[in-house]
Amino acid sequence: ASGYTLLRDPHHNKGLAFTEKERDAHYLRGLLPPAIATQETQEKKLMHNLRHYEVPLQRYMAMMDLQERNERLFYKLLIDNVEELLPVVYTPTVGEACQKYGSIFRRPQGLYISLKEKGKILEVLKNWPEKSIQVIVVTDGERILGLGDLGCQGMGIPVGKLALYTALGGVRPSACLPITIDVGTNNEDLLKNEFYIGLRQRRATGQEYSDFLHEFMAAVKQNYGENVLIQFEDFANHNAFYLLEKYRTTHLVFNDDIQGTAAVVLAGVVAALRLVGGTLAEHTFLFFGAGEAGTGIAELIALAISKQAKASTEESRKKIWLVDSKGLIVSSRKESLPQFKKSYAHEHEPVKNLLDAIEAIKPTVLIGSAGVGQAFTQEVIEAMTSFNEKPVILALSNPTSQSECTAEQAYTWSKGRALFASGSPFDPVEYNGKKYVPGQANNAYIFPGFGLGLVISGAIRVHDEMLLAASEALGHQVTKENFEKGLIYPPFLNIRKISANIAANVAAKAYELGLASRLPRPKDLVKYAVSCMYTPVYRSYR
Ligand code: NAP
Ligand code: MN
Repeated sequence: ASGYTLLRDPHHNKGLAFTEKERDAHYLRGLLPPAIATQETQEKKLMHNLRHYEVPLQRYMAMMDLQERNERLFYKLLIDNVEELLPVVYTPTVGEACQKYGSIFRRPQGLYISLKEKGKILEVLKNWPEKSIQVIVVTDGERILGLGDLGCQGMGIPVGKLALYTALGGVRPSACLPITIDVGTNNEDLLKNEFYIGLRQRRATGQEYSDFLHEFMAAVKQNYGENVLIQFEDFANHNAFYLLEKYRTTHLVFNDDIQGTAAVVLAGVVAALRLVGGTLAEHTFLFFGAGEAGTGIAELIALAISKQAKASTEESRKKIWLVDSKGLIVSSRKESLPQFKKSYAHEHEPVKNLLDAIEAIKPTVLIGSAGVGQAFTQEVIEAMTSFNEKPVILALSNPTSQSECTAEQAYTWSKGRALFASGSPFDPVEYNGKKYVPGQANNAYIFPGFGLGLVISGAIRVHDEMLLAASEALGHQVTKENFEKGLIYPPFLNIRKISANIAANVAAKAYELGLASRLPRPKDLVKYAVSCMYTPVYRSYR
């Protein structure tokens, strides 16, 4: 290959970091200015430039440009500056990027599979240059974060999630494939927008939708085999639950909104209870929002309770209540409820709103997952504080604009008594001279390590026990010093180590359940996970 091509290949380009010898050997003389930089100098320069942008979206675009120019440098930045850059390549900034994707779009970053490709999905997959894929993140764009239907512009989400698979979980970038399935959009603004990049039609539904998805699932398995992980991301819940149910016995599928969220939140709740006291079974949970996140978390908490208290899952679910857009889910509504809500329709008279539900149920743990910003009002937080010494309050909705309350509101309104965590990041809060550090229930704690665990064990199916294993591993990473500061999640700084531990625990479970295909089982799984992880240090080309 010519030097010119080499400089334009993001997988191999090192820019000014090419050495004298490499410049001689690869026809690079004259194509670069004479200075030679180390990767560290390049990193320093880029971070300096990034920090100069005041608008978050500009930082996002600068990062995407870097990913397309020099992949290893992109990952080096992301890994070394994870706390600073996570909000740039992922929530909240990625949400804005998706909303404006049509305008900022420069080069495609993943595969677009639209209804136009019906009957030809296998051929489309073959157009992708990499043949050996380990992780696919796929969306149909119908429920992007808490922002609703963004159609084809949802592509920012699979791209961002896979960047984290590599940076935080160490999955090779070439083994990651972002996919957007475009079956249309019901977003009128996008349909009218002249810069919209997707199909200009309303969403296909019913048989047409499920046939198309089925073709996709079959093509993926045929092309990449049994061990490729398919992560469903940001599908609307009327599709998400049935897709997961339908394919969990034939494919390696994982829904991060349902299952990843559940594992992250369970770890946070268990950690919070170490500070509050009492076992899971002794607490009462109320969810505001009974969709993918809410019922996903509820199911995993119920499973955890049933294991701890040696009770049936049905019995364990009785400690968990959910509120949806029609009020508290109660038995009289059972007939009209979708399957995923039915098991939580407990005996109770109808209750219309959240505040009344809180008064009626007296929960010790309140979890917001409705995507409704500011739903935790002062009355709500005060009610929680009136009958709990230390109320556990989680405001999970993303992005920041949809958060149920801010960290400051949670601490102020509870007079500093709440144990608070949120989906989007909040800065520490000073209240009455004391500093409170909110936790971030970020899915990025779990899915990269979870995926790595599946990959290194060659798992062929995802089992709920693996979610518990991941959750437990995350919980174990919270140190005594973290707890003393009131932290219920470990700092992100150590995320690669956290991911390796999660991966090891998940892989161990896969072997234990007979779902692992990579044999023999390595003895030290943590060590093995670490040894498998991608590092972004430049290679030397001789
Ligand atoms: P979803 O499946 O669409 O569920 C939304 C739920 O909220 C539904 O049960 C809906 O009620 C309910 N709801 C909507 N408006 C309401 C209102 N005004 N009052 C009461 N309930 C209302 O969405 P999801 O996937 O669960 O995601 C929900 C939110 O959680 C999003 O903002 C997402 O970004 C966030 N999330 C955060 C994390 C995290 O922090 N780690 C992870 C995943 C998701 P109906 O069922 O009656 O329609
Ligand atoms: Mn999601």
